[in-house]
Amino acid sequence: MKKKVIILGAGISGLTTAWYLSQTHLPLDIVILEKSARLGGLIHTDHTTGFHFEKGPRTFAVQKCPAIMRLIAELGMQEDVIWSEARPHHRYLWHEGELQRFPTNPISFLLSPLTKGFIRAILSEWKQPVKVGDETVWEFVLRRFNYDVARLFFDPMVVGIFGGDVRHISMRSCFPKLKAWEETYGSLTKGFYHRIKEKRKEPKYSQDVEGVPMSAIFSFRLGIEQLPQSIMSQIPASIQYNHTVEDVSFEGSQVLVKTDKEQLTADYLFCCLPVKEAGNLFERHIPEISKEFAKVPSASIAVVNFGYDANVLPLQGFGYLTPTYAYEEILGVVFDSSVFPRHNCKDQETRLTIKLRDSGLSEEKYVDAALRGIRRHLGISARPKSISFKYVPLAIPQFGVGHLEKMLDLKNRFSQQLPNCHLVGNYLQGVSVDACVARAKEAVQEWLPTFSGG
Ligand SMILES: Cc1cc2nc3c(=O)[nH]c(=O)nc-3n(C[C@H](O)[C@H](O)[C@H](O)COP(=O)(O)OP(=O)(O)OC[C@H]3O[C@@H](n4cnc5c(N)ncnc54)[C@H](O)[C@@H]3O)c2cc1C
Repeated sequence: MKKKVIILGAGISGLTTAWYLSQTHLPLDIVILEKSARLGGLIHTDHTTGFHFEKGPRTFAVQKCPAIMRLIAELGMQEDVIWSEARPHHRYLWHEGELQRFPTNPISFLLSPLTKGFIRAILSEWKQPVKVGDETVWEFVLRRFNYDVARLFFDPMVVGIFGGDVRHISMRSCFPKLKAWEETYGSLTKGFYHRIKEKRKEPKYSQDVEGVPMSAIFSFRLGIEQLPQSIMSQIPASIQYNHTVEDVSFEGSQVLVKTDKEQLTADYLFCCLPVKEAGNLFERHIPEISKEFAKVPSASIAVVNFGYDANVLPLQGFGYLTPTYAYEEILGVVFDSSVFPRHNCKDQETRLTIKLRDSGLSEEKYVDAALRGIRRHLGISARPKSISFKYVPLAIPQFGVGHLEKMLDLKNRFSQQLPNCHLVGNYLQGVSVDACVARAKEAVQEWLPTFSGG
């Protein structure tokens, strides 16, 4: 007889969990419960406006996505990958009233107004003492470099990747490689040098998706949402949309899951919900662990997509970021039409994605702030042909100092206390899609020895 597995949430965590469960070829009846009417969760490609808009993740870097690359090969999606060399896509920073290009070669590094403080700091970075253990990104960069490097490089990166505050976010969780370089080689400069030497020996092309350089960024022919769609089309699982999970209880070896529509019973449960929902759901069974999940802060993000029927961009590149010190409403802008012209629907078009600071505004006010911002930063005053808006509440969990160690401990205690339940999600090992895929695979491997067929 088949064993029943219930998966909560049809984001990438839930779908890849279903995929790796199906790859065990065990007799399983897999049901996914999803509160919304669509799959993909934060991954959201929108084709309804006559433009290709991404409202969540839009590109992945091959080098940073080993789990996604593997998954693409497993799903047979190689032909659907579109890629672009990352290097020609210049990145800019809004600094002292203009967009300054981040340097990409030694000469521009020496001449850029952004790097004056960096050059001074690099010359002495290797002499700074090593500190073992976690700290905030801000503390780390001030200790090893200086204030300019912290505010002009790390602060915009933290805002751009995590929507977070460089003064609170953990170095070990968010930049594990840099922290490891300090601990292994005694300095980042030396670590960087070792990395360059190692890189020369590594393959130049992906081992999973033929022809794609390791230095590339990629998407899919139909956008990022093609990944969850492809998983769903290949897994022997049923999905119940518009089912909000409200409660979980236990009866013998069975898990009872109550949604707003029905009650279901399962042998195993994989909870692939955001951290707050996961905490709330198990509160009455494991209050101490739930209390810790409730303490994990998450950043909300407002995303505006603009589509124009003409080329209105004054510069080409990946996009730009604004540093916190500049107090801009816009956090960053991606020049989507320039990064992946293959997603353009017309010969002449511009697509921009604007991420805005969460300031509790109405949709109209956020759109006005985006229009105001790009007029000042890019000189674009034309009205977009299409505008799309999405506010994502509590979208990205913020990893404070010691977060990873704490999550590992909580995850272990969770599985000891509720052995037929497993946790997957972007708060456990990393916020990236790649980290979610890797965690899903690991969770299935952890579950496998506990499986008892019947
Ligand atoms: C604007 C934005 C840009 C991003 N850019 C990138 C990027 O460039 N690269 C990158 O790697 N990552 C990026 N991320 C992060 C990444 O998208 C997420 O961390 C990842 O998609 C999370 O997947 P998940 O399945 O864990 O969670 P989610 O996608 O949040 O999925 C959880 C699912 O659970 C459902 N759910 C919630 N509560 C219930 C309930 N009670 N009952 C039933 N279902 C429920 C939700 O509807 C949702 O479908 C970005 C995120 C955002 C918001």
